[in-house]
This record gives sequence, structure tokens and C-alpha cells, in this order.
Amino acid sequence: MKIDEILNKKELCRNDIIFLLKADKENSKKIFKKSEEVKNLHVGRIVYYRGLVEFSNKCTKNCYYCGIRAANKESNRFEIDDDLIINAVKFAYDNKYGSIVMQAGEREDSKFIDKVNRLLIKAKKITNNKIGITISLGEQNENVYKKWYENGAHRYLLRIESSNKELYEKIHPKNSHHNFDRRINCLKLLKKIGYQTGTGIMVGLPFQNYEHLADDLLFFKNFDIDMVGMGPYIEHEQTPLFKYKESLLPLSERFDLTIKMIAILRIMMKNINIAAATALQAIDPVGREKAIKIGANIIMPNITPTNRSDYQLYENKPCIDEGADDCTNCLEVRVNMTGNKIGYGEWGDSKHYAIL
Ligand code: SAM
Ligand code: SF4
Repeated sequence: MKIDEILNKKELCRNDIIFLLKADKENSKKIFKKSEEVKNLHVGRIVYYRGLVEFSNKCTKNCYYCGIRAANKESNRFEIDDDLIINAVKFAYDNKYGSIVMQAGEREDSKFIDKVNRLLIKAKKITNNKIGITISLGEQNENVYKKWYENGAHRYLLRIESSNKELYEKIHPKNSHHNFDRRINCLKLLKKIGYQTGTGIMVGLPFQNYEHLADDLLFFKNFDIDMVGMGPYIEHEQTPLFKYKESLLPLSERFDLTIKMIAILRIMMKNINIAAATALQAIDPVGREKAIKIGANIIMPNITPTNRSDYQLYENKPCIDEGADDCTNCLEVRVNMTGNKIGYGEWGDSKHYAIL
């Protein structure tokens, strides 16, 4: 009875969210039924592609969870040439993807900043201004964010990773280069400049509990975020957090919890864009499609032209050996099987942003 009451509430409080996160199989089915209904009503049975280009794994930061952190000397560093990146953008445009995401390790040097400016200008030019551009390039100063916005990026993804400062500090080095308050401030800057602003967290981190996860969902709501990407945390041997491997939830439980987080978020924030994170697919070959069915509406096929195997954030990253075409074809069929269609040739902006 309690579950029906909660699912019919207008607003979920922290205790409601925790109750839902702990739901058993039977109650989870009720959550998914509700989140699917909300999704279909508010954003429709439509999924937008974002062609993902992971163009460099050079990173100046040392997040304790990430396989491409600066201190990982075993990582093969690469930066893809402009021409190849622009070819990938052209591929996305020609295949009516509507939008791309450009992602890389975090750097604040002028060479990197200029490269991004060049890429944005070229990507717009080669697509007659038609391609929608999301970037995910970490913390930068306001002028850089502004310049990238002026040059054509209109959505920005910067995951908060955990909205709990204490937990954030446990999964990052304690120094000025990894500062929780700066990250929050960056999110505020992105909003102020006019970006559709996206954030997210990892689910199943060491030290993380249900209360943290409930607070993460409330953080998204209170921040009035436009887009969210949440994926399971997956350990990587060459990172400091690997030593906590034994304390983690089994992968299948991290997967289930992520799916529940997506469903609850959809119930709480009806018209935002929610991505089906690639890390879901690393655990379950149809993991992203499961997320689509119960609430997500964005999928990011990897169209990185080269060096995919070197962008290893975590173990077992999928689609490393596949060409972009393979990914596109098999993906459409799988998305259709969830009862959704691909919104070809459309930006697929967050309705939440548009309504503000
Ligand atoms: N450097 C930029 C940043 O940190 O925002 C963009 C690239 S970063 C690799 C993108 C996301 O990958 C991070 O926000 C983090 O949530 C995710 N990530 C990193 N390591 C991960 C891991 N071991 N398991 C799951 N996701 C991970
Ligand atoms: Fe660098 Fe992003 Fe990985 Fe942190 S999560 S080490 S900033 S690539």
C-alpha cells in the first residue's frame, strides 16, 4: 500500500526516495510502470542520439576512480587530429544523429581551449549550423565557457559525481585542483551563461549509501538541472579506488540500483533529458535499452574514429572494436524493441530547458 501512496505523491521527500531505492522486485515493477508512464506522457516514446567523440584521454586531474587519470602511467595518451574529429561529426550529421557530444580529459591550457574553439566552429560550418553540440570538458573559467558557448556549444555535461561533499572528497584528491565548491560554481556558471546544463553521479561508489543517492536526486531537483547522466561505478585496476573492490555491491546490483535511480528521477523530474549511460552497457549488453524503457531518452553511440581502446575509464568498456556503423544499426533495432523510436535529425533539447 505504501508504495502506491508514494508513487501518487506530487513531490517525493528524502524518506520516500530512500523507500523506493530499497524496493524489492515486486515494488520495483510498480516504480518502473510509473516511470515509463511519466516518460511517455512528458517526453514521449522518442530517443535522441548524441554521437559521442572521446577525442583525447590526456587529463591533468587525478580522480581516484578514473582509468585515464594523470597519474596512470600505463594509459596510452592520445589526442585525435581535428580532421578526423570533424569527419566523425560529418558521419553523425550524414546519419541524421542531430547532435554530438565532444568529451575529453580535463585540461585548461590554451592549446586545448583553442582546439575546442576550432572544433566547434568547424563542426557548425561543415553541418550548415545544423548539428547540436554538447560538450563535456570539465571545469573551466567563465570566459572559456562563454567562448565555447558563443562558438556553438549549447549543452554542457559536468557530473557532480556525488552531491555529498564528504563523499566527493573521499573519491578525489584533497587539493585545489579537485574542489567540490568549484565544481558547484562551474555548474552555476554554465546555467548563467545559458547552456542546457547536465550533471550526474556514479552509482555504487565505495562509501556511498542510500541516503547519499537520495540526496543526489534531490540535488538535481533543487538545482533545477536540464539533463542528467547517471551510470554505475565500475572499478579500474589502475586507480586508487580499486582497493575497495571487495566492499562494492556486485555489478548486477549496481546495475539494478542505477536503473532504479533513473526511474525515480524520471518520476521526480518529468521533462528533463536523461541519458542511458554507456557504463550500463558494460554490465549488461542491453543495459542502455533497459534504461530507455523505464525513463531515459538519450543514447550516445560512440563514433570516436580512433584510439577507442585507450579511453578506458573502467573495465570492460563496450564497443571498443566496433565501427560507428555497426553501433548505429544494431542500436536502432534494439531501441525500437523497447517501443521507442529514434528522433532522427533533431537536436532533442531538454524540454525542461525550453519551458523555462
Ligand atoms: N573529464 C571530464 C569530466 O571529468 O567531466 C569528462 C570526461 S570523464 C571521463 C566523464 C565521466 O566518466 C565522469 O564524469 C565520471 O562520472 C565517469 N567515470 C570516470 N571513471 C569512471 C568509472 N570508473 N566508472 C564509471 N564512470 C566513470
Ligand atoms: Fe580526468 Fe574526467 Fe577522468 Fe577526472 S573523470 S580523471 S577529470 S577524465
